Parts: sequence; C-alpha cells; structure tokens
Amino acid sequence: MDKQSSGSKVRYAVVGLGHIAQVAVLPAFKGARNSELVALVSGDPRKRMTLAKKYRLAQAFSYEEYDQVLTRVDAVYLALPNHLHKEYAVRAANAGVHVLCEKPMAVTEEECEAMIAAAEENRIKLMAAYRLHFEKGNLEAIQTIKSGRLGKPRIFSSDFSQQVKADNVRVTEPVGRGGGPVYDMGVYCINAARYLFGAEPTKVIAVSASDRERRFQKVEEMMSAVLYFPDERLASFTCSFGAADISRYTIVGTRGVLTSDPAYEYAMDIEHEVIVGGKKSKRTFAKRDQFAAEIAYFSDCILKNRTPEPSGLEGLADVRIVRAVYESARSGSAVELPPFPDKKKPSIVQELHRPAHGKPKTINSQSPTRDSA
Ligand code: NDP
Repeated sequence: MDKQSSGSKVRYAVVGLGHIAQVAVLPAFKGARNSELVALVSGDPRKRMTLAKKYRLAQAFSYEEYDQVLTRVDAVYLALPNHLHKEYAVRAANAGVHVLCEKPMAVTEEECEAMIAAAEENRIKLMAAYRLHFEKGNLEAIQTIKSGRLGKPRIFSSDFSQQVKADNVRVTEPVGRGGGPVYDMGVYCINAARYLFGAEPTKVIAVSASDRERRFQKVEEMMSAVLYFPDERLASFTCSFGAADISRYTIVGTRGVLTSDPAYEYAMDIEHEVIVGGKKSKRTFAKRDQFAAEIAYFSDCILKNRTPEPSGLEGLADVRIVRAVYESARSGSAVELPPFPDKKKPSIVQELHRPAHGKPKTINSQSPTRDSA
C-alpha cells in the first residue's frame, strides 16, 4: 500500500475503533463509492485483528504507527475522544492528509484554531463530521422556515438526553478534556439553533445541575442554556446524561410551529409535526446512512477541490458557544459572544441519500446507551 490515490477514490484510515467507529463509520464505507477504507488505527490488538479481518484489510495499526499510516492514506476519519481530536488532526494535516473529524471538533477554541491553521498551511480539507447537514429531515426543517410557512422564527427549544453508563468516556473524562453533556449532546442543539435561525448568537446564559451520583463527579449531569440571537430571538436547550432518551426540538414562528422528534438520531427515522393555523401535518424521514453521506460528500470535496460545509469554522463556532455555556454556568452571569466569521450555512442542496444498513455487533466498545450523539 503506497500513498498514491487511484484518483477516483479517496483512501481513508479510521482512527479510534470505539462505539461510533464500529456501529456507524466503518460500515458506512460500503455506501460511499468515492471512498475506500484502507487502514485502521487502534490501541487494542484484538480489535485491530478482528476488524481488519471483517473489513478485509491486510493490516491494522497502533497509535505508535500513526505517522506511518499517514504516509499511506489520503484522509483520516477521527473517531477518538474529544481531547485527542486536535493532536491527531494537526499531525494528519502536517503530513498533507485530509481530516474528517468527529464532533465536537475539539475541546477549546485554541485547539480548533490550531486545526484550521494546520489545514490552511498544508492546503488540506478539514471538515467537522456534522452528519445532520446532509440528512433530509433537518434540511427540510431549514427549508420550511425559509419558505415562510411558520411566519418569522421566534423561539427554538430543545431537549436531548440519555442515560450514560458510569464507565463511559463521556463521564470519565472531565469537562476540561471534552467530557460532559454539552460537548457530547448540547453541541447538536447549538448547531440546530444556528442552522434553523440561520444566524449566530450574541449572548449565552446557562445553569447546570447534578444528582449526587458517582457518574457525575467529573462532569455535570445536565445543563440548560439560553442563547440570544439577533432580531430579538431566543433559543434554549437542556442536555443531560441522567435522564431518559429524548432527542427533540421545536421551532415556533409567528404563525406556526415545527417539532422534530426524534430530531438528532442516526439509527431511527426523523419525524416532523407542523401546526399552522390549527392544521396539523406529519412527515417521516426514513432512517438512512448519514455517515456514508458525510464521507461521500467529504471525498467529493477532496476530489473536486471544494471547501466543505461544515468547515473547520463551523466546528469552531459551536465550540466557542460550548465554552461560553460553561463560563456562564460557572460565573452565574451572561457571556457575550464576539461576532462570528461569515460562513456558508447548511441548506437543502446538501441533502445526500445513502441507504441504511443493519447495526453491526461491537467488540470492546462502550456504548453510552443509545445511538445518537
Ligand atoms: P468511545 O469511547 O466508544 O470510542 C473512542 C475510542 O477512541 C476508544 O474505543 C479507543 O479506541 C480510542 N481511544 C484512543 N485513546 C483513548 C483514550 N485515551 N481514552 C479512551 N479512548 C481512546 O467513544 P465514541 O465512539 O462514542 O466517540 C468517539 C467520538 O465520536 C467522540 O468525539 C464523540 O463525540 C463522537 N461521536 C459522534 C457521534 C455522531 O453521531 N456523529 C455519535 C457518538 C460519538 P481503540 O481501543 O480502538 O484505540
């Protein structure tokens, strides 16, 4: 295996073979014809062996061999815990390798900026893996708002929660290393508020709460935040690691209401209910392979030399807001957000359908409890 790309396919290494890599990323290559899985990177020899065999790869690599892997691939898909995104992304960029990085893009603004700078310096593509930017239900919600059917959008609210097991990396890593429900789930609510309002917030106020359970010693159980948007609009959300599964948002306009429930999932249908003038309508957007769509899109950007949307700046924008949420919860005061750089927003033209696949069995991987964030 050498670095030469065939020209029509982008050759990937998937780095970190945990839950999301096994249930979603690895199986997605089958549905992304312009992309080829050529290498796996994992710290677990058993996973390396079993998954290399399953995906018919001659070899899999350890983290110590990462630099060697980078000489043999065109792109990496980073499915590592949040505090490792920056290191593995910058190393890939410096080796001239394109980076598709799981959400949240990193833990701090400085880390995101270092990733963006490394991508620019080395002229590689960097994309935050926001699968919902290609998913029909979420893009149709944006379209419904743009059409004016709901009137002017005024209120966004969202609840996103799950029960996370005590040994999961989401609660064993402290907030300073990207643990906690805001980095994991809140980032979806923040991103949705931004794409549904088509705007950037200018102020944040937040409060956290935790039950006295062992699993909530390093991270809070839940966080609620209110984001102030220009034109006197408000978005609020609550994300939690200690409550039953919910994945819902509502956008209320001057004339109508759209609720998506579930809204953020990849392993089930996305549902919409729209109420305008007392008339109710429902729509179901069938489960599809959102990961195959984002991989195919990213490869297309590489092959056609286009800047991906969601870009590194999109990932940075959410991390800035996550950090402001924590600062506000800590200080008890509102936190002002300086203006965001102008960038492309997701729209219905990005919709990309790839058929769903069954859920593979996993080895040595810690599922939180559900398939969403
Ligand atoms: P897991 O904990 O299941 O997997 C992470 C993997 O990273 C581990 O299994 C391990 O793989 C590897 N790893 C390397 N170093 C470490 C370390 N120091 N501590 C722990 N693990 C390490 O997490 P997820 O797969 O759930 O999440 C990974 C990333 O994907 C996160 O950024 C998360 O936010 C994102 N995610 C995105 C989703 C989406 O819908 N887009 C859904 C779920 C998660 P190995 O043993 O192979 O080395």
